[in-house]
This record gives sequence, C-alpha cells and structure tokens, in this order.
Amino acid sequence: MKQHISLSSPHMSEEGYERKYVKEAFDLNMIAALGENVTEFENGIIEITGAKKAVALSSGTSAIHMALKAAGVRKGDVVFCQSLTFSATANPIIYEGAIPVFIDSDMDSWNMSPEALKLAFGKYEKAGKKPKAVIVVHLYGMCAHIEEIADICKRYQVPLIEDAAESLGSAYHGKHTGTFGEYGIISFNGNKIITSSGGGMLLVNSENAEEKAAKVRYWSTQAREPVPWYQHTEIGYNYRMSNIAAGIGRGQLKVLARRVEKKRYIYAYYQEHLGDLPGIHFMPMVEGGRSNCWLTSILLDEVCKIKPIDIMQALEREDVESRPIWKPLHLQPVFAGYDFISTIEERYVIDEETGADNSVCGHIFENGVCLPSDSKIEDIDLKRICTIIREMWQ
Ligand SMILES: *Cc1c(COP(=O)(O)O)cnc(C)c1O
Repeated sequence: MKQHISLSSPHMSEEGYERKYVKEAFDLNMIAALGENVTEFENGIIEITGAKKAVALSSGTSAIHMALKAAGVRKGDVVFCQSLTFSATANPIIYEGAIPVFIDSDMDSWNMSPEALKLAFGKYEKAGKKPKAVIVVHLYGMCAHIEEIADICKRYQVPLIEDAAESLGSAYHGKHTGTFGEYGIISFNGNKIITSSGGGMLLVNSENAEEKAAKVRYWSTQAREPVPWYQHTEIGYNYRMSNIAAGIGRGQLKVLARRVEKKRYIYAYYQEHLGDLPGIHFMPMVEGGRSNCWLTSILLDEVCKIKPIDIMQALEREDVESRPIWKPLHLQPVFAGYDFISTIEERYVIDEETGADNSVCGHIFENGVCLPSDSKIEDIDLKRICTIIREMWQ
C-alpha cells in the first residue's frame, strides 16, 4: 500500500515534552486560560525571537487583529497589505471597518515589493491619505525584503506589522522575523512549523512595548476594568490562549531548531533532485535571509509544458499532498473593489477560469505549487516524490 504523505502535519517531540506540560496543567487543574504554560510559552518565544513583549492568543488571526488595534487602526483607515498571502492576513482589517490596499510582490522574494510599497505611499500621499499600518508577510517562511520595507515605513512614520505566521525560526541578518516592525505575529495552527493545536502570539517591539502588550492583554480578556465588579469601557475579545494549548506549544519550542533543520534539508533535497529540470525554479531566499523553509515552493516558467495542476494531480494519485500557492487577495471575490498597487502598470487577466492577472503575485499564483514539506518525511518519501515529478518531464 502507498504511504500517505502530508503537506505539513503536527509533529510532536520525540521526548514527549508536550504531554509533560499538559499533564502538569491537568495535575494542577490549570486547564483554562492563563497559568505557567502560557507565561513560559511567551517567555520562550521572547527568548527565541528577541521581541520585547509577547502575548499568547487563540490564533494568528486574532494576533493580527490585536496588532491592528494596537497600531490604532479604526473604521475608514487605510491599511497597506501584501496581496500574496492567506486571507487571514487581511480579514482583521475588515473586522475593524478599515480599508485594505493590496500591494504586489517582487520576483526575488515573492513577498511585498518595496518598489510597489513606495508607489502606494506616493499615490496615497498625493490624495492626502496616510495608511494607519502596513502588513508584510514572510511567505512560506521565506524572508521579505524586511529591512528595506521597515525603512520605508519609518520614513513615513507608519507602524509595520509583520505576519510571521509561517516564519518562526527565520531570520534576516541574524534578526528574527517578526521583530523588525512595531508588531509581529506568529501562528501555531496545526500545519505550521510548530503547533499548540491552534493558537497564535503577538510580538510587540515598539518603544512603548510594555504598555501596548498590557493593552492587548486587556482587550483579549474581555476588556475588564480593574475594579471588583464587571465594568467595561471598551469592547473586548475572548482571544487568550488556554494553558493546555500553551503546554503543547511550550513543549514544541524545544524541538523548533530540529524542525527548522529538517525543513531546510527538505528544501535542499528538492533543489538537488529537481533543480536540473527545465522550467523549474525554487522560491528564492533573499540575500541575508535564513529561512525556516516551512513549505518548499516551486515556480514553473513559460518554457515548461507541465502546469502546477498536473503536478498536484500526479502527486494526489499517489496519495501525496501538495497545495497551490495562495491566490492573491486582490483577485479574491470577497476583496473585489479594493485598490491594488503594482509596479506592473498595464494589468490584464491572463486566466479567465482562475481570474489570475499579469501582476507579479498573479503570475506566481498561476505558475507555482507547494511541495510536500512534512517534517516527518523520510528520504525514501522524498525520493518517491521526486521520481513522480521527474517522470512528468520524460
Ligand atoms: C496560518 C496563517 C495565518 C493565520 O493563523 P491562524 O493561527 O490559523 O489564525 C495568517 N497568515 C498567514 C500567512 C498564515 O499562514
């Protein structure tokens, strides 16, 4: 029987650290929100990333929501947001009644193009509008041109939020992703490089980090005022992480370095065994970046007769999971009508069926695919996957 191969699945420590921390929580009856696991999980993330403050939350999405609120985003405000990403990056902009403006990627990072970001600032400045925040993503764990983007945001004095949901363990010039902007967010969803069974973390790096983190703790625990009765002056959220989930996450931190090494090995393996095929290009690593290689992604160029869907179907027939590249948000029906800024001036649709256009991110969506990158994968599986793909080029 063929062995199923996952794209990226939860991978608990070989030593059982997660069970130990969860058991401790049971033994102390610290099952609900807060407790030692939450505090230690936050401290562990601060140690790894170098963030000033960290707040454990129920998801990466709620962390983005809290980052936007902490950055002062309100109804009617403009937020610049990378287009090539998961919808969860932008949904919280809408929760707040703010207006997303989507920004194109560049080919050498697949992430937000600094040039397109400059164009966006220029265009909106002319209209007398300044965004309240910028959201950049480190897609698939690969670093964006983060120093350049952070510099542009500083110049305009606009807070930067890094969606580092997929990039725990990735650094740029030795500095961890999620710590360049005023805020960073991490996700511990089941398929991320480490998981807490579901959860997220907000990193706060701003000058007033202490105050901002306290505010997020307050909002995320129903905005209760510090008086003996239930008093509320603001709308709150139930966004805190439970002590059980944090126990899993806390245990997973101990194997993060191991998981990063394995994911990097998988990327290198594919590169070595598929890199010579005509028309295949690997998602690039920007110079100075050290990626966690969460998902190895490839792009098929024009000379290539094989399309991403062919690869996905061939793998599926062998019970191997792969995945299309995120469909850019500016092409999503739910975000239709919002502005999109690209360095490509004349835009047109290149695929009627998918709606892909000739923007940089539209091109990556149309021609890219994520290969199985499960950290439990063995060489024999990788070999099998590469054989399936190589046969398509015969
Ligand atoms: C997973 C993910 C999120 C959302 O995180 P959740 O914990 O699932 O809410 C946001 N952005 C990106 C890029 C992601 O991959």
